[in-house]
Amino acid sequence: MNEITLADFHLTMQVMDNIDVGVVIIDKHYNVMAWNTFMQAYSGISSDDIMGRNLFDVLDDLPEEWLKNKIESTFKLGMRSFTSWEDRPSIFNFSNFSPISGGSELMYQNLILTPLKSLHGDFSHVCLSVTDVSDIAKNKTHLRESNKQLTHLSMTDRLTQLYNRGHWETCLAEEFERCRQTQTPSTLVMFDIDHFKKVNDTFGHVAGDGVIRIVSNVLRRTKRQSDIAGRYGGEEFGVILPYTSSEMGQYFTERLRQRIEQARVNVDVRSINVTISLGVCEWYPELRNYEQWLEHADKALYISKQSGRNQSTVFEALVEQEKDTA
Ligand code: GH3
Ligand code: MG
Ligand code: MG
Repeated sequence: MNEITLADFHLTMQVMDNIDVGVVIIDKHYNVMAWNTFMQAYSGISSDDIMGRNLFDVLDDLPEEWLKNKIESTFKLGMRSFTSWEDRPSIFNFSNFSPISGGSELMYQNLILTPLKSLHGDFSHVCLSVTDVSDIAKNKTHLRESNKQLTHLSMTDRLTQLYNRGHWETCLAEEFERCRQTQTPSTLVMFDIDHFKKVNDTFGHVAGDGVIRIVSNVLRRTKRQSDIAGRYGGEEFGVILPYTSSEMGQYFTERLRQRIEQARVNVDVRSINVTISLGVCEWYPELRNYEQWLEHADKALYISKQSGRNQSTVFEALVEQEKDTA
């Protein structure tokens, strides 16, 4: 090596040792040919202890099969490739030395693999550049978590933790479309607590809230996971029973009606019990839109109220159609 190239090499080495990126150069047998200060600092392995040795022998906690595949394809294709922390949070088992974590958290890393040519022009080495992206990863994870919480809040009724009216109606509109496209059954149930005003007047608003919560809990326990329940208004609820005929839906409504009738809400030394009235309407092809579906279920609910409450009524689509055409 003449004097000029030695000086160049000296400068290059200084740059490599002072950049905030881990640099590892390996040959085709995974033997380490360069291991900069970043790598030494985070791994605790000095370059003297690793130079010329097989990377996977010295670091036995590397994802060996995965990384070897990456290195092999970099050699084969002769092209740079990139892996993100989003696919694999970390490759080298380094700690993150942020002041908050105090070195207790794993360092999130991005990795670039660059093929290097020898003086003969063939790809003889691969350079691994490791970047610490812990701050970005943590911010992004936090943002995603916040967005998830916001989405949940925007769909959820605070008192009952059921879907709120807005989101539940969106689900109903989607279910309506699904029925129209697939012509498979689906049943809509609307129900309302009987004489709820009396509960508020007798026991107070807070006790009334307690009753609404108990009714919601019974509903949650009684419905299937795939049924979609929401709080439609003050003490009115809606439940969509996908892939269910009104005949089958009546097993659900009857079980729900009985369980709510039997439930007790304790206020001081007194216990409150309430009943519900229900309206049921199965989807049928002549329905114009989901609003009409809702109207029909409400109509059936109104009949339950009129007929003495604590019961359910099925909207008879055929009877209504005959009336329309008569
Ligand atoms: P019906 O059997 O005909 O349904 O009689 P009702 O007394 O239940 O009828 P109505 O729908 O007129 O009364 C509902 C009452 O529910 C009126 C309202 O003050 C009360 N309410 C609505 N939302 C809430 C709530 O979030 N908490 C409490 N405690 N009361 C509420
Ligand atoms: Mg009511
Ligand atoms: Mg009401």
